[in-house]
Amino acid sequence: MKRLQYLDTPVEYLKGVGPKRADLLREELEIFTFQDLLHFYPFRYIDRSRFFTVSEVRADMLYVQIRGRITDIQLHGKNRTTRMTAWLEDATGRIELVWFRGFKWLKDQFKPGVEYIVFGKPSLFGSKFTIAHPEVEPVTPGAINQDSAMQPVYNSTEKLKSMGLDSRGIGKLVKTLLPQVRDHIRETLPSHILASLKMLPRDECLLNVHFPVNDILLKKARARLKFEELFYIQVNLLQNRMLRNSKLQGHVFTQIGDYFNDFFHKHLSFSLTAAQKRVLKEIRGDTLSGRQMNRLLQGDVGSGKTIVALMSMLMAIDNGFQSSLMAPTEILAFQHYESISTMLRPLGLRIGLLTGSTKSADRREILADLKEGRLDILIGTHALIEDVVRFKRLGLVVIDEQHRFGVAQRARLWSKSQVPPHVLVMTATPIPRTLAMTLYGDLDVSVIDELPPGRKPIKTLHQYDRNRLKVFGFMREQIKSGRQVYVVYPLIQESEKLDLKDLTDGYESIVRDFPPPRYSVSIVHGRMKPADKDYEMQRFAQGHTHIMVATTVIEVGIDVPNATVMVIESAERFGLSQLHQLRGRVGRGAEQSYCILMSKDELSIDARKRLEVMVTTNDGFRIAETDLQLRGPGDIQGTQQSGILDLKIADLTQDEGILQFARKQAKRLLEDDPMLDKSANRIVRAQLNKLYPESVQWGRIS
Ligand code: ADP
Ligand code: MG
Repeated sequence: MKRLQYLDTPVEYLKGVGPKRADLLREELEIFTFQDLLHFYPFRYIDRSRFFTVSEVRADMLYVQIRGRITDIQLHGKNRTTRMTAWLEDATGRIELVWFRGFKWLKDQFKPGVEYIVFGKPSLFGSKFTIAHPEVEPVTPGAINQDSAMQPVYNSTEKLKSMGLDSRGIGKLVKTLLPQVRDHIRETLPSHILASLKMLPRDECLLNVHFPVNDILLKKARARLKFEELFYIQVNLLQNRMLRNSKLQGHVFTQIGDYFNDFFHKHLSFSLTAAQKRVLKEIRGDTLSGRQMNRLLQGDVGSGKTIVALMSMLMAIDNGFQSSLMAPTEILAFQHYESISTMLRPLGLRIGLLTGSTKSADRREILADLKEGRLDILIGTHALIEDVVRFKRLGLVVIDEQHRFGVAQRARLWSKSQVPPHVLVMTATPIPRTLAMTLYGDLDVSVIDELPPGRKPIKTLHQYDRNRLKVFGFMREQIKSGRQVYVVYPLIQESEKLDLKDLTDGYESIVRDFPPPRYSVSIVHGRMKPADKDYEMQRFAQGHTHIMVATTVIEVGIDVPNATVMVIESAERFGLSQLHQLRGRVGRGAEQSYCILMSKDELSIDARKRLEVMVTTNDGFRIAETDLQLRGPGDIQGTQQSGILDLKIADLTQDEGILQFARKQAKRLLEDDPMLDKSANRIVRAQLNKLYPESVQWGRIS
């Protein structure tokens, strides 16, 4: 049992909190204990030592602090209760102050002739600046530079604010907390690291991160806390990898056999790119090594990851093993099943498909076949990792478009057989380096960095909705020359009904402009029955329909080389990686392909930037980096659940340097002391167990 520490005290018992505020702190900010509050870091700081004059106020300032006199206080509105205004004057001019609530008791507070310090965010209305709800206090010796120049700003929410817990209120709680817990803060980095990196002790950092004594200490405090956060992630990942490599046996695929050779020499209709060959060699090396392979395969949309997966599975089969391929959606699983079955037909292999909607009779049969070894390849969705799915001799698992599966799910695969299968993880789109290092830092990485030859780069255009007719004209031209067209609508969970209406309206308008019998239009969305979906997909894939109207269900993997136009409606509502995925559905054949991003006229700055990036580059790595910059890691698809990115202070968009450094330090530490047995590293081991209690128990694997 874990012994309760003082820092585990429920936050309710902190002076100034109590049961009601404690409830809110839990619900809104996941602050349960003293420790949680201690680790709830300010997201920025304001410099309260700096004063501005009225004439220096500009529209882009986050806040200003001005000294002056307050004059001409007035109440406005019906019964004079809607707002209060006043002027703040200094030698350079005057600026309006305004309050919309809570001013009744305020109005008699301001005394004529007294100098005040006013602090708040200026906004520009027409040509006039106002500061709404400023903090105001009289100039007294204590008021200026009271504790320190830098004041913390904490995230808060409307609910918290209504209970007095705005940034300032939270700051007060932290201020009460710090002296109480100071002696209970334990060091979490070993002294040899602290000494060699010249880092401050942890308690000092925690005090300074909330209430910095000065700029330099704040910088040092933040640097250490960021380092520490990233360091432990890396120690965990690297130690897992190391122990896996030394303790886990892997199946040895001794030979390249008939299936592989037959396919490669007789049935592959194109030659592999140099990058594909290189990756296959890397996989071959892994599966010969006697260790379990855990490899991440990164490659841009359309770079040909599937064929690499397929040929790796043939290696397994040549050595008497079964393989499985796991896809994130039913549609994609089905498409893999179809295309892989077609490609492998001449080899006479037995391939099964298992998804959530597989009928129970079929399911029973598949499961029995699998167990008896009558199936060579099983393709499916995450239904594959359920415990009832038992293989006779599973040698390789390929996970396509991985970052929708969590890290924990990956680990579950190991329990599928005595010797764990080799694992090949393929990502849908490139992921930024910092993210890859954090999410997949325990994997070896292969990159396919070239596209198959003969591909023409996709031309991407941004069009406003009002130019729709022009776009329709272009679609007609393309259809006339034998091509096919996708039209995609956003579908966002919360407003699914509304979006579905967008989709069906859009479908109807397209049918009006592209009427039968000359044209035929397919529609696919997530609410359709899988069988209907598949039917529509097939009609389009086989060229029976000209236009596919769809939601993002077609985002991943779908492969129809004859489709050359991707029209994305309300493109401003999509994230960058999603746009890039969608665009990757075209440009798969030899014809010139186009991606047309439709949007309304008024766009947010971020949306405009996203569309601009799409128009200017086809490079998935660049797009991924921009995506991370614009949205931050929390929003990148599929990473939310993984938990590993609940970073409290480090920022993957800005701290690549610290991350690299932390990884290097973690590596060095583990090279010197793999099991963290040395007494100097006891602190690391304790902290690791605390942070990752559910981590694989390597000690038990021998
Ligand atoms: P992704 O990496 O996005 O999963 P796919 O594996 O779906 O890409 O491949 C995209 C298309 O390119 C498929 O139609 C595939 O058959 C084709 N392809 C893959 N490798 C080659 C190659 N070396 N030469 C020509 N075409 C290829
Ligand atoms: Mg793919």
